[in-house]
Amino acid sequence: MHSVTLIYGDGIGPEVVGSTRKIIEASGVKINWDVCEAGAKIFEQGLASGIPDKTIASIKRNRVALKGPLSTPVGYGEKSANVTLRKFFETYANIRPIKELPGVKTPYSGRGVDIVIVRENVEDLYAGIEYMQTPSAAECLKLITRAGCEKIIRLAFELARSENRKSIHCATKANIMKFTEGMMKRTFEEVAPEYPDINAHHIIIDNCAHQMVRNPERFETIVTTNMNGDIISDLGSGLVGGLGFAPGANIGSDIAIFEAVHGSAPKYTGKNVINPTALILSGIMMLRYLGEFEAANAIEQAVLVTLGVDKTFTRDVAGNVNGISTTAFTDVIISNLGKRLDGYNARDYKPIKTPTIAPIPMIKNRSVIGLDVFIETSQQPQQLGENLDKLVANSDLELKMVSSRGVIVYPSPGITPSVGDFFRCRFFLRDQTSDLTHDQVVYLLSIIDQKYRWMHIEKLNVFDNELAFSKAQGED
Ligand code: NAD
Repeated sequence: MHSVTLIYGDGIGPEVVGSTRKIIEASGVKINWDVCEAGAKIFEQGLASGIPDKTIASIKRNRVALKGPLSTPVGYGEKSANVTLRKFFETYANIRPIKELPGVKTPYSGRGVDIVIVRENVEDLYAGIEYMQTPSAAECLKLITRAGCEKIIRLAFELARSENRKSIHCATKANIMKFTEGMMKRTFEEVAPEYPDINAHHIIIDNCAHQMVRNPERFETIVTTNMNGDIISDLGSGLVGGLGFAPGANIGSDIAIFEAVHGSAPKYTGKNVINPTALILSGIMMLRYLGEFEAANAIEQAVLVTLGVDKTFTRDVAGNVNGISTTAFTDVIISNLGKRLDGYNARDYKPIKTPTIAPIPMIKNRSVIGLDVFIETSQQPQQLGENLDKLVANSDLELKMVSSRGVIVYPSPGITPSVGDFFRCRFFLRDQTSDLTHDQVVYLLSIIDQKYRWMHIEKLNVFDNELAFSKAQGED
């Protein structure tokens, strides 16, 4: 007997979760459902996270949850309860299978699209660390860690193995963001040789999006950073029939939360018209995670027969006249348990091994050779640069350059890029034989502060003889 936390959720949640629960029970798998609340009602009761302690305790205890969509009512809570759940339980992988379904007509029908997207789920720009730097300049931190990359990459290889997939693409923008996206690429290249049975390729994310539209059948597994993954997994859903057919799983080291990709579709609440397939497919993923391969395969086949043989669809696919209700659709699937769709390329699933990672090797040498100071001013770059040169003339640091939105503007590169009111001013130690000290930082800021409003600083590190900061466009 398995114990699973069950969250019905908001809007159409109770209908899709109810349908999935009924089908899983009809398959014969014994589950003790621990029904818990989260979402709109909880926000309205005044709990800012939207997730009561009882729900958190239940997930901690059961380690597996099946949930409907949660919404954040306007005027309550700043953060989505969905994102909070993912972060609380460090479900670092978002797994989104994209597989052609028989009978569901799309421009790609017949091409055998069968991709799984493994999206990093807790880091990147979605860590949600944002600041207004000036009244007209906003900043969002793109945080990527080596451990975060290694976990998601190893999980992607393990998933590929467990589903007998022979290739994996790591999709990044490492050509532009060499430290953040580059860390994902470098880690992928280090880990890949440990999986010689899987063909490993790197692909630039924009080309990946292009290829997914032109040639989706060339992909089997795609592993990528959070925002890239968010975008291409929705693109992928579009290839195989849209939100009604897009399942998902959030996997952590020992906790997994299964949910459809779609939201609470409030305008259809309680109308008994929506398509429960996405959550049913998420339920199938959950059963495999629990080791219930036979029941998972039986339900998958029953769904395939319902769509591909009976040609039975809900209204989002078949329209108001031919589409059947959510409950009737659920009953047809149950009546098809035990039947099989011949010729369907079903996968041979095996248990997935969630990876553990070794401690990250420490660097041997590190030094701090300077400081970037971000300054707000309406001055033109030439005037700002000359003033800063004068201000620091007698200090231990010298001005290396000033950049605006990543492009050098002082010393003048000979062209005049459009500038805002927010500049990165780079100072290097004149004597690079010793590290930048706290006192030198404080002194530099105190002299800048006499003339300018400074917004934030970044230390300029060197790790094992490699510069650990990016140069501005045009900087030598
Ligand atoms: P949505 O996915 O709820 O709905 C968009 C449209 O997609 C619907 O109007 C409907 O036409 C169609 N659709 C979605 N699911 C369907 C289904 N199962 N069957 C048939 N048609 C379906 O997106 P939204 O309107 O942007 O969001 C509504 C609410 O859901 C928001 O509060 C949002 O924050 C929340 N949301 C929650 C999750 C989650 O819990 N994981 C995900 C996305 C959105």
